[in-house]
Amino acid sequence: MPHAVTHVLFPLVLVDLYRNYLHKAKKIHLHYVLIAGLAGLLPDIDVVVYWLLNGFMSISLSDIHRTFTHTLFFPLIFLILGFFTKGIKVRLYKDKLKLNWVFYMIAFGIFIHLILDAVLAGSIKPFYPFSYYEIGLNLIKNNLEGTLLPGIDAILLFIWLIHLELKHKISDYI
Ligand SMILES: [Zn+2]
Repeated sequence: MPHAVTHVLFPLVLVDLYRNYLHKAKKIHLHYVLIAGLAGLLPDIDVVVYWLLNGFMSISLSDIHRTFTHTLFFPLIFLILGFFTKGIKVRLYKDKLKLNWVFYMIAFGIFIHLILDAVLAGSIKPFYPFSYYEIGLNLIKNNLEGTLLPGIDAILLFIWLIHLELKHKISDYI
């Protein structure tokens, strides 16, 4: 499966690009960018569930991983929550965020996670448990002895840090 940095950076960069280059007013608060990035990890919470259940019962990772949290229903839940929370604001530090957009960002991060899993390595069952139909392009068939996916993580992180330095001078904060 694609690794954590890939899952965080893909939605984060997509929302940030949209914010920087397509949405000229830059009205989108940076918190939304971060939320989309963090939500990109959310589907793999099923690995943590596997760890917890493993303490109580004999269970294999494949029984849990890429099941419920890797379906189209998972982002749909947050999309629907977004529809019903229009107009509600929540406070994050000293900023106010629109709750419906928080949910939309979570739905987006999850959706990008599903695409990455389905395209890069392995497959997902988008309609589980109602259907066992699988989508998996498996573009990374040869993981070069397990080095390719962590390598993509490293390259993405490297490029992202360079971008942050050039655009936002993050070294000032270190
Ligand atoms: Zn996953």
